[in-house]
Amino acid sequence: MTTASTTRPEVRVRRAVVRGVERPTPRVVRVTLAGPELADLPVVAPDGYLKLFFPRPGEMVPQVPTLDDGDVGSWFRRYLAMPDDVRPPMRTFTLRRRREDPVEIDVDFVLHDEGPARDWALRATPGEHLAFTGPYGLYAPREDHDAVVLAGDETAVPAIGAIVEGLPPGRRVTVLASVRDVTEQQVWATDGDVTAHWTAPERLAERLRDLDLPGERPYVWLAGEASEVKAMRRHVVRERGVDKRDVCFTGYWRRGRTEEQEVRAAMDGTADPAED
Ligand SMILES: Cc1cc2nc3c(=O)[nH]c(=O)nc-3n(C[C@H](O)[C@H](O)[C@H](O)COP(=O)(O)OP(=O)(O)OC[C@H]3O[C@@H](n4cnc5c(N)ncnc54)[C@H](O)[C@@H]3O)c2cc1C
Repeated sequence: MTTASTTRPEVRVRRAVVRGVERPTPRVVRVTLAGPELADLPVVAPDGYLKLFFPRPGEMVPQVPTLDDGDVGSWFRRYLAMPDDVRPPMRTFTLRRRREDPVEIDVDFVLHDEGPARDWALRATPGEHLAFTGPYGLYAPREDHDAVVLAGDETAVPAIGAIVEGLPPGRRVTVLASVRDVTEQQVWATDGDVTAHWTAPERLAERLRDLDLPGERPYVWLAGEASEVKAMRRHVVRERGVDKRDVCFTGYWRRGRTEEQEVRAAMDGTADPAED
């Protein structure tokens, strides 16, 4: 997936067990994970995300290479080189919320049409196991950013919620999020000064064009379908005059490609390049 910047990755593989499953909205499965290996999970940026590894059919626990040398690149090549009938599906999801006592984290899975993550979330029950690396984080406004814009599709709503719920008092933020219908809109508790706009999936980029960008120097965070994010980023940089260093953008998924196909394309250099 294309991205503007990243923090230094945490390279440990951890295991977690499903403690609960909820449906906060009709299209979202919220899975609560727990386990002793979550106790020292680092705190990174508020849009922190995890690389989740799912058990294959018939497995209790996914088989994942151990990290013996701390080099995430060589570990990842070993993961990709595992035989197809052993390698666990890996997909990326936001660490939606964490609680300390007891130690638990929530992950929100949007139920689109197909895919191992979507299928796993639909059948997840307490006691099942997962493995993951992370969290990694991207959201990092600077002191000279006097406002923030968060724009994305339904897969970005968990990250937007996590950012909004962690805002410092009075932080001026404009949210633009697309969801399938009004039942998918979420309400967030926040200390920030947040204005939220909801729109339909096909209207996200168009709605961004109409959006009043807040502040003198806003930090713009964009996430969602990769080509849509690219178009939105191009719009804010070229047509709205936002400095590209003030834009954090991430393709969260790509239409017609699984995350694994996307990762392999990035590894062999055939992925759609991020723009400068
Ligand atoms: C940093 C980051 C954070 C993310 N956080 C979240 C999160 O918190 N919650 C969340 O739900 N997703 C999140 N995503 C997106 C998620 O990783 C992808 O949607 C992923 O492809 C889902 O895996 P899958 O196994 O269900 O589908 P895959 O096997 O990867 O894809 C199967 C097919 O479905 C299509 N597809 C994938 N996602 C969608 C979608 N959302 N809508 C329509 N079609 C789709 C693909 O193009 C492909 O054709 C995040 C992605 C990134 C990079």
